[in-house]
Amino acid sequence: MKSHLTLFSACFLLTMAASAQQVTPAPAAQPLTAMPYSPSLDLTSLDRSVNPCNDFYRFSCGGWMKNNPIPADQPRWDVYAKLANENLQFLWGILEADAKASNRTSAQQMVGDYFSSCMDTASIDKLGAAPIKPTLSAIDALPDRRALIAYLGPLNRKTRGSFFFNSGSTQDPGDSNSVIAEIGAGGLGLPDRDYYLKTDAKSEETRKAYLAYVQQILTLAGESSAQAQRDAAAIMRIETNLAKASLTRVERRDPYKQYHKMTVAQLSADSPVINWPDYLRAQGVANVSTLNVAQPAFQKAVDHALTTEPLDDLKAYLRFHALTAAATSLSSPFENAYFDFYSRHLRGTQQKPPRWKTCVRQVDRSLGELLGQEFVARTFAPDTKQKTVLMTDQIEDAMKSEIEHLDWMSPATRQEALRKLHTVRNKIGYPDKWRDYSKLEIKAGDHFGNTVRAADFEAARDWAKVGKPVDRDEWDMTPPTVNAYYNPQMNDVNFPAGVLQPPLYDPKSDDAPNYGDTGSTIGHELTHGFDDEGRQFDAQGNLKDWWTKEDAKGFEDRINCLRDQFATYVVVDDIHINSKLTSGEDVADLGGTLIAYIAWKKATEAQRLAPVDGFTPDQRFFIGFAQWACENTREANSRLQAATDPHSPGFARINGIVTNLPEFATAFGCKAGQPMVKAQVCKVW
Ligand SMILES: [Zn+2]
Repeated sequence: MKSHLTLFSACFLLTMAASAQQVTPAPAAQPLTAMPYSPSLDLTSLDRSVNPCNDFYRFSCGGWMKNNPIPADQPRWDVYAKLANENLQFLWGILEADAKASNRTSAQQMVGDYFSSCMDTASIDKLGAAPIKPTLSAIDALPDRRALIAYLGPLNRKTRGSFFFNSGSTQDPGDSNSVIAEIGAGGLGLPDRDYYLKTDAKSEETRKAYLAYVQQILTLAGESSAQAQRDAAAIMRIETNLAKASLTRVERRDPYKQYHKMTVAQLSADSPVINWPDYLRAQGVANVSTLNVAQPAFQKAVDHALTTEPLDDLKAYLRFHALTAAATSLSSPFENAYFDFYSRHLRGTQQKPPRWKTCVRQVDRSLGELLGQEFVARTFAPDTKQKTVLMTDQIEDAMKSEIEHLDWMSPATRQEALRKLHTVRNKIGYPDKWRDYSKLEIKAGDHFGNTVRAADFEAARDWAKVGKPVDRDEWDMTPPTVNAYYNPQMNDVNFPAGVLQPPLYDPKSDDAPNYGDTGSTIGHELTHGFDDEGRQFDAQGNLKDWWTKEDAKGFEDRINCLRDQFATYVVVDDIHINSKLTSGEDVADLGGTLIAYIAWKKATEAQRLAPVDGFTPDQRFFIGFAQWACENTREANSRLQAATDPHSPGFARINGIVTNLPEFATAFGCKAGQPMVKAQVCKVW
């Protein structure tokens, strides 16, 4: 969503597949009234024919991989996706009840009516392209270039879609207490700038498929096929020029490359084509004096396109982006075209998700903290909250003692690192203060209108933050989400209730697998405060170098050890992990697992731990750790992830980590020369 523009993507544990591409298993699913249970250490997921010292991931997950083929409507299938699917099924049960209940609360009316309008595909299909027609007509009616440029402001504010660039509010990297406006790169229909520029056969094929998709969408909206073909070529040309001017994903990991705070007057002088004061007024923010321009060179490319491309081509570009952003809220031909390109072609997904799942996801996205309240009340016991809060505190303690004993860090840097750690805010389960949706109108039977009003509500909420102090209670994920994040500018770790469910956090289990799994996740997020990106922010969340030169070099050397190791892993064919892109996540995996292990040892030091099911307590910690990452992935999706995902594939996130932990080799009796034993381990923390 364009209004969710953040300069530095907070580091998620996983990269979520785009929501419209999420889906369901082949057997007809039913709404759930209770969450299913599977244990945090699952013996049926093991493959005991594999020696854990040869391939620990296979040993821990081989059974899971065999027992859990990828459903036809999924690009990949893993422990997180399976739990996310169960959460959705459970939310489906809540929404069905809310849709039908009598004497509903206003919250039940909103989520229930949003859901049932979305489920009414007969009415949606009858409308065809009609709901988006006013927008298309407004674009067509623009008399000249000047009018088109002036229309970008209202278009961005009122219409979903990324038109040439993105804009929104952002926490000021240099002053973490304030929120400022930001203009950032955007405007592409393919997932990354590299898709436009790479010359290999696969990339050529994808561009062909994308051209066909653009043509199809324009044709569905009423263009002749000859016209759509001409327009698609123009759109591709415009986007390719924007792509050339965009930073790469690796470049975007450097926060300074995207921080260019300037006055509006300066922006107007550098990029004079758009009237920026007018543009900002159209977003609802008057009196903006300074803002961040994430990629100034990109804005020059936007100016170039707006002044040199033929007017008709610019209009075609705007029409297409309005259409593709609305495609999943329109009739099934639009939705199918969108699925065929973004899910089938780009991710290898075979089958469209069932409607219920698409609709549950849409309610979660638009009304997440209303629906989330019901989810939390039913699935997140106060006792689980208490235990996971305690575990987080213990893991922070473990990190503290690690930092105190690091031999390579100078006293000055150490003191700052401890201060930063001490300042981290722990947000567990759900927000202390729920979002207020009372100004958002949800109407029964008006699906498209609901999606537009919800997007508008979110855009207004986002822009309204400009000029106000930062709200540190805000969450970037909804409570049912199966994911977690660290935000370097907030200096907080966030664990939604959705990720603290079995098998990830299992209230019925003893500590070993829970610390291995959820403990490592908590450690992972915490360690992001000190990865290649997070270490550049201080305790207050300000972009500020607080490292001595020697310490910074010592740290980078240690990260390079992991970069070299992960670059050797093959994702698919001859594609290796781009470890410059994944190193932040790899460091977080290594540091997180180590401190979870230390915290677990400390938490259980007074207990006499005995083997269970033939595994020692240490072995159970590591199997619990490994089993969060069990996965099966389609080849097309692997390619997409290798190009865009800052996370390494599951096998590397397990084997690449345990090989650096001597505690693992000891636990399983692995000997030098075996694949899971490295001659020289990487040690960051
Ligand atoms: Zn992460």
